[in-house]
Amino acid sequence: MNIDWENLGFKFMPTRSNIRFHYENGQWDEGKLYDTYDITLSVAANAFHYGQALFEGGKAFRCKDGKVRIFRPEENGKRLNSSARHLMMPEFPVDKFVEAVKTVVRDNEDYIPPYGTGGALYIRPVMFGTTPQIGVGASLTYELVILVVPVGAYYKGGIKPVDAMISRDYDRAAPHGTGHIKAAGNYAASLISGKQAKDHHCAVALFLDPATHTYVDEFGTSNFLAITRDGKYVTTLSDSILPSITNNSLMTIAADLGMPTERRRVKATELPDFAEVAACGTAVVLTPVGRILDGGNIIDYHLDTIGPVLKKLYDEMTGIQHGERPDKHNWLVEI
Ligand SMILES: *Cc1c(COP(=O)(O)O)cnc(C)c1O
Repeated sequence: MNIDWENLGFKFMPTRSNIRFHYENGQWDEGKLYDTYDITLSVAANAFHYGQALFEGGKAFRCKDGKVRIFRPEENGKRLNSSARHLMMPEFPVDKFVEAVKTVVRDNEDYIPPYGTGGALYIRPVMFGTTPQIGVGASLTYELVILVVPVGAYYKGGIKPVDAMISRDYDRAAPHGTGHIKAAGNYAASLISGKQAKDHHCAVALFLDPATHTYVDEFGTSNFLAITRDGKYVTTLSDSILPSITNNSLMTIAADLGMPTERRRVKATELPDFAEVAACGTAVVLTPVGRILDGGNIIDYHLDTIGPVLKKLYDEMTGIQHGERPDKHNWLVEI
């Protein structure tokens, strides 16, 4: 094993093992570590045709004291079950989920980027229906696999704001649809907006509420958050956005720092009034947004690096994750 820790990106790489659980006859088995990434499935498997598939994302860190800690894995377990319920897939016990994550992280301990590199072990659970089917219906059998992949520090050489483009031609989710769960199909549906954004030299697409296109929802794979000119933390309220664990954590940190926090509907017309805007999620914690394109209109936050308030939140969050700052909410789980 010879990993260049300084130059890891965010891409798939095989590690020692992944852990798999099989569901059949109404129950999950005890699970097993596999040293292969291959799986044999019927071409008629439900997930291919009817999309019973969901995923999760988390991280484990090598901390300052040398110990390995996982960030809020029980939140991933609860959210996995909320996705499973909506897609008529079986739930997986949260305590068993946390144990499984610990097991696979422990087995791959030497794949965790060293403290100080800014990297982490990305944890990717995925669950899918495997029963061969032609008629539409819920699968009878399922697989839950938890993969781990070493990933690098997202920001090398400083945090650069990215541009975002409001998606006016396509929505990522329907009102009362699947936007609030981590259904695999949501991401296939958002790729075309992502492509449109890239064609306009924007890193990400920003989606509005699908019913009225008046309010801000979120980015394709991350929540929207903003800092007002008077120092409030604002994030969007909508039933078609994914409840981000990072957003929830940053909001808690903001409150700890004495900032007023609001989760409310945010009109797209309010966007120019904010002092700082960011996308947030597990992969990067937060990405500041420098400009937002909306048709021919450009909202410019006039920032060439991360803004001061977001910087403070980012430092506190990553400080907690790497065991440099007190974990007063007990978010970290030691392996
Ligand atoms: C996963 C995801 C997020 C971020 O959630 P975290 O728990 O913070 O990683 C935000 N929006 C969407 C659409 C997502 O899929």
